[in-house]
Amino acid sequence: MPVLYFSQLYQKNGGFFVNKKNIPNIVIISAPSGAGKSTLIKGLNKIMPLKYSISHTTRSPRAGEKDGVEYHFVTLEKFQELSQEGAFIETAFIHSNWYGTSWQSILSSHESEDWLILDIDINGFRSVKKNMPDIVSIFVLPPSLDVLKERILHRQPLIDSFELHERLSIAKTEISAAFEYDYIVLNQDIDKSVDELSFILRCEKLRCLRRHDLIRSLCC
Ligand code: 5GP
Repeated sequence: MPVLYFSQLYQKNGGFFVNKKNIPNIVIISAPSGAGKSTLIKGLNKIMPLKYSISHTTRSPRAGEKDGVEYHFVTLEKFQELSQEGAFIETAFIHSNWYGTSWQSILSSHESEDWLILDIDINGFRSVKKNMPDIVSIFVLPPSLDVLKERILHRQPLIDSFELHERLSIAKTEISAAFEYDYIVLNQDIDKSVDELSFILRCEKLRCLRRHDLIRSLCC
């Protein structure tokens, strides 16, 4: 797959982006499990319209989850078939299940002014970033590892100590990848963090790369 810069126009089959006027509004948000990422994204959606990239996954739906809403829930065979067809910009094997971001899910962002959120892990971030170096990326940090531990225990009171230890160790590895992201949001206070996320995205909208249309309309 060629490296794709937003100043070019991408198309599904790996062709280059052509005559792209502005860069698309795509943002990756990653965090260790329990950092409060989903709560922040929901809070952000209350103050600005967002679109979500709906990933494919081989994991089973949890209570209340619907196919085509939280994820496209597919069998392993279907996932492999799509992967072989080149449908995914990235795939990752997480907690014994496959996850993948399809090209289709991000192409829609070209037509929209709203931010498209990619809620993906650090490996997904690295793959997408390799293909699309100009993408905006935000890492959400928990206030401390103790708070993270409390949140994991609150979510899964019956978790055994081995799994808890494992989760915290994975979280530390993920946090060490935060250096690679553009922005860091420390999730100590939900309102403040939502405000910071919105501030980042509002500033990003003012970047020259996103205002080529405007400049051209006044000088060309
Ligand atoms: P969950 O199964 O709890 O919804 O998600 C587990 C993890 O998978 C989360 O860290 C989430 O960000 C990540 N994830 C969800 N979809 C994708 C995807 O398409 N690609 C990658 N790389 N990670 C994903």
